[in-house]
Amino acid sequence: MELELEQWGGEELLIRRDARTGAWIGIAIHSTVRGPAVGGTRLRRYASVHAALVDVLRLSAGMTVKNAVAGLPCGGGKAVIAVPGPLTDGEREALLERYAEMIDGLGGRFATGPDIGTGEADMDVIGRRTVHVFCRSLGQGGSGTASPWTAAGVQAGIRATLRHRTGSDDLAGRQVLIQGLGEVGGVLARLLHDAGARLLLADVERERVRATVAALPGAVEVTAEAVIGTECDVFSPCAIGGVLNAETIPQLRCLIVAGAANNQLLEEADAERLRTAGILYAPDFVINSGGIMRGIGAERLGWSEAQIDARIQAIGETLEEIYRASERLDISTAAAANRLAQEALTPVEVATPPG
Ligand code: NAD
Repeated sequence: MELELEQWGGEELLIRRDARTGAWIGIAIHSTVRGPAVGGTRLRRYASVHAALVDVLRLSAGMTVKNAVAGLPCGGGKAVIAVPGPLTDGEREALLERYAEMIDGLGGRFATGPDIGTGEADMDVIGRRTVHVFCRSLGQGGSGTASPWTAAGVQAGIRATLRHRTGSDDLAGRQVLIQGLGEVGGVLARLLHDAGARLLLADVERERVRATVAALPGAVEVTAEAVIGTECDVFSPCAIGGVLNAETIPQLRCLIVAGAANNQLLEEADAERLRTAGILYAPDFVINSGGIMRGIGAERLGWSEAQIDARIQAIGETLEEIYRASERLDISTAAAANRLAQEALTPVEVATPPG
């Protein structure tokens, strides 16, 4: 994959090699049109520095559209820390502190939260060196992990997508296949189980599947290799990106795809492939925005829990608007969501939070 900075269309890219650990740090500020760029920090090993930079560019652009459609007064950004291998706790902390100083040097143009490979404890470390961080632990004055709110948004999105596709949003008896039972998928499984869905659960970590199946009577294990091609009403990707592509889409046997994973489509054309297959696709950056709504809403905008919940439930209404636009304009749901995002890319007036 080429690193196409011109096509990226962003504002600022900061790249630094951390001499002490050999890690590469990339901070991509894609847009500050709606406000300071906000997005998570992904910490992992990458095949190459190049792969890490491609990732951060793509993810930062995704945050711009996500935050715009979510109605947040934030732009889009993202950071990656490409580590060369396992770090000791001390090395990791020191690396995060140096990274936090980089964020601080941006003077508020970028603020970060957790993503794959980082959690609230890491945000606490970052918070020692900069205020431009969210989702620190409750003990440190943050709002903690946002994953349960992401899961709640995905549930609202599944209901809205089912309603549009079948005329009913009743989850009772619906077969839902969840791929990935981590922070989001695990909570989602519990929510859907309580709503009466029949769960089909898959994860590459077999122990995780077995524990979840044991805790949720009626749930059935599907092996990670058998996910694509397993018949269900709802396919909910909650693990990795790129699961919807030219090879997998013809094998899907579901009515809708609605899950939390970022970048579910391998390429743009996959949205059209899903449409042709008669599968209603809930654009990932819309349905998975519950977590960022909670983190920013609670810490930056002074929203109450009731206001946050109302916003998260409204993800269903936003999706309905997207589905209607897709039909009216005869375009894919992903294209309709991108149009909505582009329309929302205008500066926002921010009301000062109470207190
Ligand atoms: P996580 O790392 O906690 O969980 C991911 C799970 O997927 C793990 O249990 C892992 O073993 C499993 N997995 C990995 N590859 C798999 C495969 N090929 N088949 C089946 N299972 C596989 O991550 P998370 O926080 O639950 O996030 C899940 C997805 O949702 C990610 O793509 C993430 O970017 C996206 N997302 C998360 C949030 C959030 O609030 N956590 C918000 C928006 C988007």
